Amino acid sequence: MNIKEKDTKYIWHPFTHQLNAKQNINIVKGEGIYLIDETGNKYIDAISSWWVNLHGHCNPYISQKISEQLFTLEHSIFSDFTHQPAVTLAERLLQHLPKNQSKLFYSDNGSTAVEVALKMTLQYWHNKGEQKTTFIAFENAYHGDTFGSMSVGARNVFNNAFENLLFNVAHIPLPTHENIEQLKETLQFWFNNHNIAGFIFEPIIQGAGGMQMYSAELLDELILLAKSQNVITIADEVMTGFGRTGTFFANNQLKNKADIICLSKGLTGGYMPLGVTSCTQFIYDAFVTEDRTKTFFHGHSYTANPTACAAALASLDLLEKEETQEQIQRINKQHLLFQNKIKLHKKLADVRVLGTIIAFELKTEEHTHYLNNASQSIADYFLGKGILLRPLGNIFYILPPYVISKSELNFIYTCIEEFLD
Ligand SMILES: *Cc1c(COP(=O)(O)O)cnc(C)c1O
Repeated sequence: MNIKEKDTKYIWHPFTHQLNAKQNINIVKGEGIYLIDETGNKYIDAISSWWVNLHGHCNPYISQKISEQLFTLEHSIFSDFTHQPAVTLAERLLQHLPKNQSKLFYSDNGSTAVEVALKMTLQYWHNKGEQKTTFIAFENAYHGDTFGSMSVGARNVFNNAFENLLFNVAHIPLPTHENIEQLKETLQFWFNNHNIAGFIFEPIIQGAGGMQMYSAELLDELILLAKSQNVITIADEVMTGFGRTGTFFANNQLKNKADIICLSKGLTGGYMPLGVTSCTQFIYDAFVTEDRTKTFFHGHSYTANPTACAAALASLDLLEKEETQEQIQRINKQHLLFQNKIKLHKKLADVRVLGTIIAFELKTEEHTHYLNNASQSIADYFLGKGILLRPLGNIFYILPPYVISKSELNFIYTCIEEFLD
């Protein structure tokens, strides 16, 4: 058996329909923005390998730092013990996070970062002796694949099988200039009549929900309202963090800062799995008591893995460089120019841009949703051109590593124009 046959025989891949599953492409090397397969085909990783990669594949600086860490301390337990990479990373992240954040909790990925945020919120109220257990979230949200994060996510094909076991959440529509007054009334109704513990949101863009962008100003109004009612606000920045939306965090575009912030994906530049949940002092304080039953009993075997923390520190070194910040702004400018050029195309229902993300919504006979049949044909077309895109139904997008050059990005635009024509 060759490696692809063995892959089919032994492995069950994520989000993959198993009946007649095609053979997977065998990637043997990563190099900058390229993934290279066993026959030497190069693919531009236009979606940063599921939104994690910032500085390109096998970046020598990050790989070197990880390697050094591996010869110093690869891993150690994180209860009763600590280590430099975790401490330095916490200190440096707090310099970038909103001023109201004061403590960091480590975990392994985006779903666990959200899970920790939800449990922290629920136990905050529990520790204070208040019966508050309901969350507010947006329709169409995606917060991960564990039970808590599925519960606050939209009810859809991703979690149909578990619907009866998910806890109840009040889902509200995204704010628009048309619905904002009504929406604030609805929220106020929930706050008055239910024991609302927290309000969780993907700030200013819903990722898996189809790169749906919405107004920072209107989100600010909802956060303000929630805060005025003592509701804990949770910003899920798993996708939006580390420059994706044009600012260091999406939070930088908001006036009202969330109480809890979830990070993962770009955190390590895409090199190692790591999650962070940060919180304010007042949340932390509810866990600091003589009563040992009020401890936050949560942790993962690989909590604050030093190698992952070293990757995150190296990624931050690169991200903080002026050169990287210029790349982010240049990608944004190129996206805006292309948006202007293509937006009236008759095959497109919408083109939208936020920071380094540009999303295209194809007009189709079917509804806009994840299982829309357009998806596979779009992906196949671009793969044939040497570009890795992974559409969300009839919506496709470019979310590139920041090291993509001007001409490489223009090449993708040209292929998109050819595809549409
Ligand atoms: C991807 C994502 C998650 C889940 O992260 P995983 O690392 O895949 O578990 C959670 N929230 C948002 C906003 C995401 O985009």
